[in-house]
Amino acid sequence: MEDGFVVRFRGVRGAHPVPGKATLKYGGNTPCVEVWAGGRLLILDAGTGIVNLGDNMLARHRQAGKPVVATILFSHTHPDHTQGFPFFNPAYEGTSTLYMFGPKTFDQDLEEALSRAMLAPTFPVSLEELPSLKIISTITENEVILIGPEHEPQVRNVYREPVTSDPDLVRVDVYRSPFHPSGSVSVFKIAWGGKSMVYATDTEGTYGGDSRLIQFASGCDLLIHDAQYTAEEYVNVPRQGWGHSTPEMAVGVATRARAKQLVLFHHDPAHTDTDLDAIQARAQELFANCLVAYERLTIRL
Ligand SMILES: [Zn+2]
Ligand SMILES: [Zn+2]
Repeated sequence: MEDGFVVRFRGVRGAHPVPGKATLKYGGNTPCVEVWAGGRLLILDAGTGIVNLGDNMLARHRQAGKPVVATILFSHTHPDHTQGFPFFNPAYEGTSTLYMFGPKTFDQDLEEALSRAMLAPTFPVSLEELPSLKIISTITENEVILIGPEHEPQVRNVYREPVTSDPDLVRVDVYRSPFHPSGSVSVFKIAWGGKSMVYATDTEGTYGGDSRLIQFASGCDLLIHDAQYTAEEYVNVPRQGWGHSTPEMAVGVATRARAKQLVLFHHDPAHTDTDLDAIQARAQELFANCLVAYERLTIRL
């Protein structure tokens, strides 16, 4: 367990994992971010970065003699955001409790989408065979998730149910961005103790910036934003309509939302460490408090 509000990047790469010498500095695992808020653990996406996180969690919990309890938030169910889950070892422990939330995509709930990825002949163990206790729910942007010190998330409809503003509750808000292909993507805002962070992966910039996202992220302490393509790739390859942004688009959202810090995320698998060094240098000229995400980057809010 970590005290305070801590964000640690476990996988920062889009599309598919990229092992090898050219990605040693920033890392080659697909999206996963570990967030600690007031002793509660939230995990954003289950790309291959979650595999290593799971092993660290088990080691830590065994040492403390306590079972794993975590909330996993899925932005969407594309493989780069789910492919690590079948190898997330806490799910194989009967004492673990995993609260899992994600969007409904077309007519498919999160549970159906995850189950399909773990069906024979694709995978030897089915989702329901995993011994951990899994509470899998669909979440919409009409709802907020509140997590108290007992770790069990409560879901409230913001229009129909009272939402208390207890500063010790971890609050998760959802914005359903339409700017990603095949059923769009959920953007999450996690707030605790007067600080907040926004996780906006797999989203494409628009003319003038996505105004609903800008409003959603307004005044946040940390904005994690997709920046998969350089501006040249976006226009010349071309990559318009593929559901990803450029660093300039991410900077535009951060600037207009008055985010205090920006982290560029979901790197193109073809971008080497040298490419990402150059992307960071250019982005910092536009937004001083900006970093390119790398595995193990840890930010304390
Ligand atoms: Zn992705
Ligand atoms: Zn995607």
